[in-house]
Amino acid sequence: MTKYDADVVIVGCGCAGGILARELTDAGIHVISLERGPDISSDEYAMDELKFPIRNKVLWGPQDEPRFTWRPDDRSSTERVITGWNGWGPGGDHLHWGAQSWRFQPATFKAQTVFGQVENGAIIDWPISYDDLEPFYQKFEERVGISGDHTKDPFHPPRQKPYPMPPTTPTYATRHFVEAVKEMGYDPFPVPGAINSVNYDGRKACGYCGFCQSYGCTIEAKGDVGLTEIRKARQNPNLEIRFHSRAIEVTVDQYGRAEGVKYVDKNKRIHHVTGRIVIIAANYLESTHLMLLSKSDQFPNGIANNRGQVGRYFHMRDITQLIGLFDEPMNSFIGPTPRWAVNRFADDNFSPEEYGEDFVMGGNITGADQQGLAGQPIEFTDAPTPEGIPNWGQEYKDFIARAYTHHYNSRIYLTEPPQDEKHIDLDPKVKDSYGLPVPRVTFDWHPQTSRQLAFLRQRAYEIYEKAGALKIWGGELGDPWVLNSHAGGTTRMGEDPSNSVVNRYCQTHEVDNLFVVGSSSFPTIGAYNPGETVGALAYWVADFIKQEAKKGEVFS
Ligand SMILES: Cc1cc2nc3c(=O)[nH]c(=O)nc-3n(C[C@H](O)[C@H](O)[C@H](O)COP(=O)(O)OP(=O)(O)OC[C@H]3O[C@@H](n4cnc5c(N)ncnc54)[C@H](O)[C@@H]3O)c2cc1C
Ligand code: SF4
Repeated sequence: MTKYDADVVIVGCGCAGGILARELTDAGIHVISLERGPDISSDEYAMDELKFPIRNKVLWGPQDEPRFTWRPDDRSSTERVITGWNGWGPGGDHLHWGAQSWRFQPATFKAQTVFGQVENGAIIDWPISYDDLEPFYQKFEERVGISGDHTKDPFHPPRQKPYPMPPTTPTYATRHFVEAVKEMGYDPFPVPGAINSVNYDGRKACGYCGFCQSYGCTIEAKGDVGLTEIRKARQNPNLEIRFHSRAIEVTVDQYGRAEGVKYVDKNKRIHHVTGRIVIIAANYLESTHLMLLSKSDQFPNGIANNRGQVGRYFHMRDITQLIGLFDEPMNSFIGPTPRWAVNRFADDNFSPEEYGEDFVMGGNITGADQQGLAGQPIEFTDAPTPEGIPNWGQEYKDFIARAYTHHYNSRIYLTEPPQDEKHIDLDPKVKDSYGLPVPRVTFDWHPQTSRQLAFLRQRAYEIYEKAGALKIWGGELGDPWVLNSHAGGTTRMGEDPSNSVVNRYCQTHEVDNLFVVGSSSFPTIGAYNPGETVGALAYWVADFIKQEAKKGEVFS
């Protein structure tokens, strides 16, 4: 036995960490995976709105401790302290994801070349191309199980094979939306989803119950890395997952190479586990946080941060919801979360200039969703009301009772450019229950985002008008302190160590046996949900590590 506990220590057993664990252990590499959350299996899933989205069964606890703080810019002091958020357990955020499984477009990977620069912007090209990732997108789609029909989307990027499953059947509300979109001439198509339209890989076909996002699927028809890759990897003796294990520091040896990870168990006892390679895959906020916490003589500002790049270029795209009320019942709560979409106004699929607009990148519009994150009745009461309807009393109750069954929702997904001044560092004052400083997010929307939203909201508004909506409301820009998972930049990839943290294989420039995998490594967040690109990147990195291992480069 060597002096190491494992060949590879992975922090986080979510989407990226789970894929890496499966790929590396399949190749005979011994992995210890540290997961902050508890073990959970699909036997514990339930269609219980109170337990899941409201009381956060699969989200981090305790929900009453500070998770991060927020301020709009460098000149302000901390304005808000935010508590619990994010998925945990085997699958992480992926366990309760909405299963919309998009590829980024080729333009995203050469964002600066295609879109240029915005004021105070930090848009750069990625050091990898869409073609590099294409086989790994395919692998993700086959392993996790994606249904879709790319032939209906005129803007779908080039692909080698069709989706492994045909799309799910559109519900009545979706067909209603699709008719209106067609009349507008916008080429609607089914959003690719990790939803079994047929029995797939030992899991059942979808039953259209509508309890996807914020839940685990009780019949396992929704694919996630927990159910697929992690479940398979757990049968391999090369993998050991340590649950309730929160990493607090990546340690380094005298040469400044990663040596292992210090973590705290549920009894708050501290342990140290060593590995030849350390991979951080703890979702963008915690990956960045852990690097900043990992201070040593060699790295006084956090591991792999001697050039001050960790935490910079933070950006998050907004997702807003425009609601339409109809005369007839729509029952939009029925059916899986991925619905149909309009892609015409995203990325370089169109030219904003031709519309007299001054923004870049655009976004997409989906319908006919349920309003809210999960779309169940309790959450619906959180929805804004249209002008003239009070949000209390009998009139409100009558309105809500009717609107819940007679509405559908359009989500407008914007694309936020990275900015030089927006970043994540450690809060100088606020600490968590472990006594560690929490991450501080300095962020506000770029001015072009409001223009982008106004343009897309108008397009969605016109679709509702065509569909005969009685009332249309909502669609405001979100609060910049409500973080979502469509964010990146803070450990971004690049060729140049003076303006990036990791190289094209997510290997840090400053510590060659340390990798950071997840959306924090995206230089730009793209116009689509990030999950499939996080997954594809994890397969790409695993492939690199396996090849290096074969050459004897990484485990010597
Ligand atoms: C409600 C919701 C809906 C979503 N819907 C979609 C969607 O429809 N489509 C899409 O593309 N994306 C969606 N996403 C985003 C998608 O799930 C994420 O992009 C993806 O899971 C990120 O993968 P990751 O491996 O980086 O992080 P995660 O999957 O979150 O995994 C990170 C893991 O690290 C663990 N961890 C964190 N810190 C530590 C620590 N210090 N020590 C040990 N373990 C730690 C966490 O507990 C977690 O298990 C959604 C996210 C949410 C929250
Ligand atoms: S709609 Fe389908 S995939 Fe979603 S939770 Fe229900 S059965 Fe599962």
